[in-house]
Amino acid sequence: MKNKRPGFATIAIHAGQEPDAETGAVVVPIYPTSTYVQQELGKNKGYEYARVSNPTRTRLEENLAALEGGSAARVFASGMAAINAICTMYKSGDHVVCGNDLYGGVPRLFNQVLANFGVQFTYVDTTDAKNVERAIRKNTRMVYIETPTNPLMSLSDIAAISQVCRDKKTELVVDNTFMSPYFQQPIALGADMVVHSTTKFLNGHSDGLGGVVVCTKKEQADKLAFVQKAAGAILSPFECWLVLRGVKTLAVRMEQHDRNGRLVAEFLARHKKVKKVFYPGLEEHPQHDLARRQMTAFGSMITFETGSLSNAKKLLKKVRVCSLAESLGGVETLISHPATMTHAALGEKGRREIGITDGLVRISVGIENVEDIVDDLDQALAAI
Ligand SMILES: *Cc1c(COP(=O)(O)O)cnc(C)c1O
Repeated sequence: MKNKRPGFATIAIHAGQEPDAETGAVVVPIYPTSTYVQQELGKNKGYEYARVSNPTRTRLEENLAALEGGSAARVFASGMAAINAICTMYKSGDHVVCGNDLYGGVPRLFNQVLANFGVQFTYVDTTDAKNVERAIRKNTRMVYIETPTNPLMSLSDIAAISQVCRDKKTELVVDNTFMSPYFQQPIALGADMVVHSTTKFLNGHSDGLGGVVVCTKKEQADKLAFVQKAAGAILSPFECWLVLRGVKTLAVRMEQHDRNGRLVAEFLARHKKVKKVFYPGLEEHPQHDLARRQMTAFGSMITFETGSLSNAKKLLKKVRVCSLAESLGGVETLISHPATMTHAALGEKGRREIGITDGLVRISVGIENVEDIVDDLDQALAAI
């Protein structure tokens, strides 16, 4: 019993969230301070200025590192700020291999910001690890993947790609936003770093932006701490506190998200007006076996084909329980149209290349009563 690692929910509630040493407060306090008094020149309690460090932030970083099984974590003002922080460790001439079906903001950052600084990007279909292997060059510093992808829900084999990265001496970074550490543990499968938009499932209540990089090596964590200090896109103490509060219920929320997700996916798969459903939990998903191996459940992100832009529009106009909005991972069901919302920046050609059609609708199934979500989709689909 003694050396047994505590279970996930216990870690979520207690790691970094120990009672406050000074007062015994059960909940981690918010420290809204910009600076810290120094005892004398050169002597302080480990805190000098809040861009560099803040106790609420330290606690969140300890918590998220423990949840992903990493050695340290660094939190940033948004998911994009976290991804950008990793890239600021690279220099002109460095090369990155990445998936061709990523969250729309990631290729926008890579192509329209970082490419201007001379970082090179190659986009490949990472559902086959061989494509990754072929794309890696001598100057490749990172392989960056999302699994499952947004919005097409394709999977990449984390263990296979991490083996390729080890052989080729480059690092694998996995965006684990869609599954959360509760359903997928990329570091245990060989990833070098894990990224999240904490805005989504980790915070879980659609009330704060944030991002995290979980590291496995001290060198990465030190460099990212330097980026926090030097570039300053840190997460505020209040937002850190919201995520600390959110993660306490991550396990129960994810269980319910997954239960509802499966039922909604099955309903959509049976519905005559729905042409195709993209959900790794369905047996017809081409990578259902990999999903069973790599994740402990299938989550609540579902994409489906309505056949045309006009069908998608009709459906989205009719929904009442589901809210038409970008984002995902909150307790409320959110429904969105990738072609005109999250993936508009890709352009029509870019979307066609990876299969994002105008009829696709993405749903982030919340934790409402599932009958209400299904009834809502049923009445909205009747409008098509
Ligand atoms: C939302 C999202 C991001 C970006 O995070 P922000 O917090 O919105 O900056 C990155 N990756 C994935 C998979 C996302 O869903």
